[in-house]
Amino acid sequence: MLTGQTPILVLKEGTRREKGRGALGNNIAAAKAIADAVRSTLGPRGLDKMLVDSMGDVVVTNDGVTILKEMDVEHPAAKMLVEVAKTQDQECGDGTTTAVVLAGELLKRAEGLIEQNIHPTLISQGYRLAAQKAVEVLDSIAVPVKFEDIETLQRIATTAMASKAVSYDREHLAELSVKAVRAVAEKGEKGYTVDLENIQMIKKQGGAMTDTQLIEGVIVDKEKVHTGMPTQVKEPKIALLDAALEIKKTEIDAKIEINDPSQLNAFLQEEENMLKRMVESVVKSGATALFCQKGIDDLAQHFLAKAGIYAVRRVKKSDMEKLAKATGAAIVSKVSELSKEDIGHAGLVEERKIGEDSLTFVSGSKNAKAVSLLIRGGTEHVLDEIERSLDDALNVVAVAVEDGRMIYGGGAAAEEVAQRLREEAAKIGGREQMAFETFAEAMETVPRTLAENAGLDPIDILIELRKSHKSGQKYAGVNVKLGKVDDMVALHVIEPIRVGRQAIESATDAAVMILRIDDVIASKSGPSPGGGGPGGPGGMGGMGGMGGGGDFGED
Ligand code: ADP
Ligand code: MG
Repeated sequence: MLTGQTPILVLKEGTRREKGRGALGNNIAAAKAIADAVRSTLGPRGLDKMLVDSMGDVVVTNDGVTILKEMDVEHPAAKMLVEVAKTQDQECGDGTTTAVVLAGELLKRAEGLIEQNIHPTLISQGYRLAAQKAVEVLDSIAVPVKFEDIETLQRIATTAMASKAVSYDREHLAELSVKAVRAVAEKGEKGYTVDLENIQMIKKQGGAMTDTQLIEGVIVDKEKVHTGMPTQVKEPKIALLDAALEIKKTEIDAKIEINDPSQLNAFLQEEENMLKRMVESVVKSGATALFCQKGIDDLAQHFLAKAGIYAVRRVKKSDMEKLAKATGAAIVSKVSELSKEDIGHAGLVEERKIGEDSLTFVSGSKNAKAVSLLIRGGTEHVLDEIERSLDDALNVVAVAVEDGRMIYGGGAAAEEVAQRLREEAAKIGGREQMAFETFAEAMETVPRTLAENAGLDPIDILIELRKSHKSGQKYAGVNVKLGKVDDMVALHVIEPIRVGRQAIESATDAAVMILRIDDVIASKSGPSPGGGGPGGPGGMGGMGGMGGGGDFGED
């Protein structure tokens, strides 16, 4: 009675809160906006996006995760979809657009079910079951790929790069990525493992894309410090030093009073001796090539050159670590402590000129497998996009080598999954059946979008595709070039199974997570209202449309 008229404030002033369908509707709208932002890039006929950041820097790309990383997304549900892309990227390095588009589609279609009064919890359960089944189907249609089957591995790389700007020179890059992955792959008890850390990518502007090459060993983007040093050292004994070959300037302002010229000489002599002793330590260790993470004094350079040692200074920490791994050398942080045990080995250390710059190549190391891809291209943007393409290619090949299984792309696997889910749905019955069927339709977003982006009529293609799969053509997909349904086995459109599986799993996780939210409580310091950032697609700004009641975002 007493409190009847006064609302009780439980939350701090300025906290915004949104409940029930309004919250869900806004979250779904935001997620859809994210999916729509990348949808047009899917597949070989997908277009690129030009992203301009607040500093005016431009990135032109087709890569789902790159686009989403560059976009300043603020809406919490939208952020969850960006996370999907990142997870996908970490787990398999490809399929990011697919995962996001699938998640968006699952949510969009969930709206329809909610309107038919199916509770989000039921939809979530149905989706989870369907995802599980979908993965089973993928497993059942996957085919083996062998480590020795270079041709197939190259086709996997080619498929992954199909949608990238560099697509006209895919063959060359595919060949390089397969060589690189095979070179660093390690055979264990349970098959192969690939550590992509052992593949280094170095970009050098100039030359043509076809000049991009695979080099066995590690490349350090530095030249030798002194022209008097040898350009080539065979069977080098390698020292890695994390200390400067310089004389430290004192921190304190000390004054040295010199009254007669001999004293000055003695002083300079002492400096020289100190540097000499440093170089002597290097020489004593037996090193013939020195990689120094810090500086090397001019005089020390001179002494090193006189000793016939190849030396490089200010080497990046990551390169030092690669060298340590490849050559077996230990990184030493005190010159005087450098000893024979710290020395590493390789076949050759050599300075080579690439374009304008001289680089140091360390090859033929026995200890560990390490290779480098030297990327060439006309402009910075081209280099970046080649790097992203190679990154995708390396990832899919690595994943294929590790798992040894692949599926057919171009919407073939997705359609087969859809088809089997529909069959399964009939057996389940009840309300979950609808979620199952909805999931199946969402899977078809893959071939539909591929067709759409290729300028084809998605409905025609889908009808045709369903027909093919019904008649048992498991590998029928979208031939985006000829604009018809075709056999993906003949077209060599192949993907590692992990890419497909992960896309289904992470898309479902995100969709379910968003579906289960019925209350959004945003504290004042949270995302600013309407602050979606310039160029952000609608519906993503802040908690956009807060308090919009029960209506869902427009389709
Ligand atoms: P993602 O970020 O999801 O990898 P992509 O833009 O790389 O997105 O597109 C991948 C999709 O394109 C996959 O469904 C793949 O099967 C399909 N695809 C790749 N090459 C072809 C091709 N030659 N014909 C038809 N579809 C293809
Ligand atoms: Mg891809």
